[in-house]
Amino acid sequence: MENKMITVAMTGASGNMGQAVVKKTMELDYVQLRLLFVEGKRERKLEKAWKKQYGERVEIFFGNMKEFEDCRKLVENTDYVVNMAAIIPPMADKYPELARDVNVTGVKNVVTAIESLPIQPKFIHISTVAIYGNRDYNHPWGRVGDPLMPSAYDEYGTGKLIGERYVLDSEIKTWAVLRQTGMLYEKLLMANISDGLMFHTCLNVPIEWASDNDSGVLLRNIIAKDYEGKNRGFWKRVFNIGGGKAYRTTGYETFDMGFGMIGGSVEKFMKPNWHATRNFHCMWFSDSDELERKFHFQSKSLAEFWDDVKNKNKYFALAKILPASAISAMIFKPLLRDKNSPYRWIREGNEGRTNAFFGSKEQWEAIGEDWNNFDVWNKNQVKGHDYNREIRHSYARKCRLSHGYNENKPMSELSLKDLQDAAAFRGGKCLAKDFKKGDWYTKVEWECAEGHRFKASPYTVLKAGHWCPHCIQQSHWDFDRLAKKNPFYAQIWYDTHSQKEDAHYYIDRKGNSMVA
Ligand SMILES: [Zn+2]
Repeated sequence: MENKMITVAMTGASGNMGQAVVKKTMELDYVQLRLLFVEGKRERKLEKAWKKQYGERVEIFFGNMKEFEDCRKLVENTDYVVNMAAIIPPMADKYPELARDVNVTGVKNVVTAIESLPIQPKFIHISTVAIYGNRDYNHPWGRVGDPLMPSAYDEYGTGKLIGERYVLDSEIKTWAVLRQTGMLYEKLLMANISDGLMFHTCLNVPIEWASDNDSGVLLRNIIAKDYEGKNRGFWKRVFNIGGGKAYRTTGYETFDMGFGMIGGSVEKFMKPNWHATRNFHCMWFSDSDELERKFHFQSKSLAEFWDDVKNKNKYFALAKILPASAISAMIFKPLLRDKNSPYRWIREGNEGRTNAFFGSKEQWEAIGEDWNNFDVWNKNQVKGHDYNREIRHSYARKCRLSHGYNENKPMSELSLKDLQDAAAFRGGKCLAKDFKKGDWYTKVEWECAEGHRFKASPYTVLKAGHWCPHCIQQSHWDFDRLAKKNPFYAQIWYDTHSQKEDAHYYIDRKGNSMVA
């Protein structure tokens, strides 16, 4: 056992999470890495640096996940494959085809390549919190198994949902899916002040962050524990990655802390009506402590994280010399004109995006520019809500969503009736005739409210929260209609939507945001 080397293949190693994972994983002296890089300046630079630092222990080859042969080359003769590659917003919005190549086709290729091997490596797929869609103070806490309803026009969330489904439907014997939350990294602030994307973050949205270092430690510890044969209860499951208690906050507080580094605040730099009021993603995970208990990766506090960033970026202090109004005019106001900014959609009469992110133009107009008229949840200004009570973990039980079957009995007792109950709660049917009690992983047939038939394991539907794959289409968001027939969806959808809404949001071939 002692000196057995293992090979870990990775995609996405040049990304923010990937770099942290490589750094941490290389602390295990029995690990060799095989990395698939796409051609790029950053990748060539990293190749040079890592070759110098790690020598033979890192093998890097250049290719593309959309090519099956490259994926086959990546995964053969390996012990683990970690798929971290993702094209995230705003890139995913600007280059939807590229996003599909990586978030959908790339996953399919990696999955198929692993399936084709006589001896399969173990597969860890990194998914995302974006597949859950929007949350607010009505149901701020969520867990694996909750409905998966990516926000309208979020090509990334939808692509990642379809990609994750390939993994769950696959013939891979040993897999795990980790849904990564919003990730904090040193350059986050600087990386996000060039795009209107920051205004998609609702001020009253619950967010549980994690840092890039946390994710690196987590992946290192998973591999280490598995190597030692002490990894019970991990494989063939889906988990949420979150930073835990210290990292639970809101959109408003996040901006406030970030801007605090340059001597400002959200109210000094911004106006309430710059931000979307719905159609974002993120929530507090009631189950992120599961991975923490197994792998102890959560570190520091959010305040410490920002202090750390501040210390590494001394020039931030220089901004304090400038009045807040000057910073606002210099940095933030120009962003309102960005194509990705809600302010611009309103001005240009973009009906689809206006309705998706605000409900209607009238609802946007009602927000206004005066902070005195805007109720901030974490300041306890939202009527009927007590933020300090709601952020306590004990509140998670009180706003827990139903998954539509009896969750209180042991997993070994799963019966056909549970499957039928769960299907009915989703407006559909389970078509299985016989069912072996407690069999979570053999696929059975289902029918959705639209009459589509599909096969999926009970785990995929009941535990992972997936439902009809035909109803989830890239570039289409039809949840207003679907939620009307699906109580599982409805229990969360109407927190931020009205029963009267009946919009089918889509992006047309020319890339225009449409609504029908
Ligand atoms: Zn369907």
